[in-house]
Amino acid sequence: MEKGNECSTHGGLQQMNKHLSSGSTRVIPSTETGLQQASELIRSGETVAFPTETVYGLGANALDAQAVNKIFQAKGRPGDNPLIIHICSREQLSLVASEVPDEAVKLIDEFWPGPLTLILPKQPGVPLETTGGLQTVAVRFPAHPIAIELIKMCGVPLAAPSANRSGKPSPTSAGHVLEDLQGRIAGVIDGGFCKVGVESSVLDLTVSPPALLRPGAVTAEQISAVLGVNIMAGGGVSNQDGPKAPGMKYAHYAPNGELYLVGHGQAEVETIKQLVRQDQAKGFKVGVLATAETAGLYEADVILACGRRDQLDTIAQGLYPALREFDKLGAQRIYAETYPTEGIGLAIMNRLTKPAGGKRLG
Ligand code: AMP
Ligand code: MG
Repeated sequence: MEKGNECSTHGGLQQMNKHLSSGSTRVIPSTETGLQQASELIRSGETVAFPTETVYGLGANALDAQAVNKIFQAKGRPGDNPLIIHICSREQLSLVASEVPDEAVKLIDEFWPGPLTLILPKQPGVPLETTGGLQTVAVRFPAHPIAIELIKMCGVPLAAPSANRSGKPSPTSAGHVLEDLQGRIAGVIDGGFCKVGVESSVLDLTVSPPALLRPGAVTAEQISAVLGVNIMAGGGVSNQDGPKAPGMKYAHYAPNGELYLVGHGQAEVETIKQLVRQDQAKGFKVGVLATAETAGLYEADVILACGRRDQLDTIAQGLYPALREFDKLGAQRIYAETYPTEGIGLAIMNRLTKPAGGKRLG
């Protein structure tokens, strides 16, 4: 069932977390006993963050409105922004979705467990708190052994949005979860760094043709190939029924510094260097979001290589940790290279464009 451990465990992290005062939030090891503790907390109506192959999720019993409300409180998330429900078997799907069309079955056969969330009609038993008042439900079967084991032990589907304060970059390590939610949640399971690094692809199957509301590691090209139709990115358009992906109207993934997208290539490197000099002359602390290939070309206050341009998967992995690092180092302006919008590149550019608020130079 599992596609292997999708989250690499870094031995140093548990060590590091010992140094972080955990307040009333327990750092829970990903052992059998740890997962038992976590599942007891969740069964008693608490919230616990856990690793998935995409990012860390903040889990609570998806069928318990009170528990779900604690997720919204801890994150400071608007109540009309619905949560993704995480399941650990295909059988559990019928608990949350009232219909599973053929298209869904094809996609499930191909991509579950994995980073693809499907929007389906909701079962009446799912509280409206979980779906932000919608009659549809977002559901996925994560490909991470810790997540799967935890959901199994809980015995209920888990609502689990990304375990960050609303508006901040999603966490890809237990340390990031604590940075945002220490003292606001019951616990976090330490499962190392997340392999994918950006949130799941979200596909709405309640409209025809299906709409990709959020690009992710399962790409538009892959979905199109399975369904035999051309799935267009950039769904989430409003209609009379309201916005299709309510989360899309909120600011996301933003570092504290102002982010500008510049482009990539030799000319853009020169542009970035010039912009950095101008901003430094005005007294700003300036950052560059570069790649392993280009980091050595820049001079700035903070230069971070989020991954390798010739392996876009590594850029996805390193993107959120880099945005968080800029905050820690106090970058006030950040100039970022851009990426081709194919494959995982579409998800990377989606996550970069939001905090840049459309500020694109070059
Ligand atoms: P997060 O869980 O923080 O990764 O965000 C989940 C994303 O899925 C948000 O953009 C939500 O608006 C979107 N979403 C969740 N449930 C639904 C739904 N029933 N219909 C449309 N979009 C949804
Ligand atoms: Mg989120």
